Amino acid sequence: MNRSFVCVCVKGYLVMSIVVDANLDDSVSAFRIAQAELLHACEALGLGPGVYERFKEPQRVLVVSIPVEMDSGECRSFIGYRAQHTDVMGPTKGGIRYHPSVTLDEVKALSMWMTFKCSLLSLPYGGGKGGVVCNPKELSLGELERLSRGYIRAISDNIGPEKDIPAPDVYTNAQIMGWMMDEFSRIERRYSPGVITGKPLVLGGSLGRAEATARGCVYTIQEAARKLSIDLESATAVIQGFGNAGSYLATLLAEIGVRIVGVNDSKGSAYNPKGLDAKALVKFKEETGSVQGFPGSENVPAEDFLALPCDILIPAALENVITSKVARRIQAKIVAEAANGPTTPRGDEVLLDRGIFVIPDILANAGGVTVSYFEWVQNLTRLTWTEDEVNARLKASMVGAFEKMYEVHSNQNKTPRLAAYMVALQRIVDAARARGWTC
Ligand code: NAD
Repeated sequence: MNRSFVCVCVKGYLVMSIVVDANLDDSVSAFRIAQAELLHACEALGLGPGVYERFKEPQRVLVVSIPVEMDSGECRSFIGYRAQHTDVMGPTKGGIRYHPSVTLDEVKALSMWMTFKCSLLSLPYGGGKGGVVCNPKELSLGELERLSRGYIRAISDNIGPEKDIPAPDVYTNAQIMGWMMDEFSRIERRYSPGVITGKPLVLGGSLGRAEATARGCVYTIQEAARKLSIDLESATAVIQGFGNAGSYLATLLAEIGVRIVGVNDSKGSAYNPKGLDAKALVKFKEETGSVQGFPGSENVPAEDFLALPCDILIPAALENVITSKVARRIQAKIVAEAANGPTTPRGDEVLLDRGIFVIPDILANAGGVTVSYFEWVQNLTRLTWTEDEVNARLKASMVGAFEKMYEVHSNQNKTPRLAAYMVALQRIVDAARARGWTC
């Protein structure tokens, strides 16, 4: 990676120095961005080069081949990855993504972002992430189950309640977590609910886990709106992605009075400036497989979707969607990054320059891993918390993390993203020093 970084200030804020690296244009890879974010946080905290060297690569990366017997009787092999970034603060933790475009680079980046997210939320974990290159929409339920069990068999030596604890991510869900927990328990020859989170309730899942990512994001939006004096009851929102994070965000934001004017998914969009009925949208998507065609809505082309007029824009799908070109057209006052890595460094620079407040991904979507932690604690202690208890603890964690980020942002004149990384990295470094890691 090019190490000749220069710091740049825009509107008095120190922005990510990587924006001046000509190689880090809008097409830069997710892992390169994650490394640059680490480097920049090291610089901002005045840390020596050893910290960057220590954490710039995942501690362990597994690449596995998963043979699956298809319904036709033929055998097909799928590639799976698991990256474990660092166990400095505890076992590694992070979701498993099923997507045709999953790459090792992406999984490594996501594992590093998980380290920062867990640290920012003061969770006793390092970051991990997994992925399988597949299109789950083309697999039967049986094929999906055999693939999920095969993936766990392939990585079973390196996961466990005290080693590495997976969870759901894009195109994986509670049912898949249930199969994976069962497969691991069979291998271990004992019931091991603590190996995975996001499970069905009956297998030790936590109340409030399904909506946790969205609920946590809503808490951060409420905090940001308070700081920016935005009245959420007269605010509008546009959400990209209508899966776990996006659909719950629509319903939870509608519950607090935000008007949802646009949502989309991989097939199309639904836009109505007068507002969309979030609950009816969820039902419509369940019945038809897409939000496109929702009665009373218009289908906006994908390239124009993020430019729709709104107060709050929420990318809740995939990485690198807010490029500099897209950022120049965004009309929102707040961008809440429910997705991981949705903004490129150049996109970030444009948003900052235009005075748009970004709630960075490692904070905005940390509700999921926070309630995953609560699930793991309940599994290890054999206790069950009520939904109100889970939500109250989640709110305290999210608001506390937002406050820590905001303090550095306002007192030290750093962007919200850099401020969040600084808080997170300081804790990682403190843990490494306390363990006596000199290198
Ligand atoms: P999901 O599989 O439930 O939903 C993904 C959604 O994105 C689907 O509606 C899909 O149609 C849509 N999508 C895919 N490609 C798209 C495109 N090009 N344009 C518009 N929409 C598109 O996934 P999820 O769990 O909701 O995850 C979404 C994002 O949130 C990811 O970045 C994930 O890493 C992040 N995240 C999820 C969790 C969690 O607990 N689920 C936690 C933290 C972060």
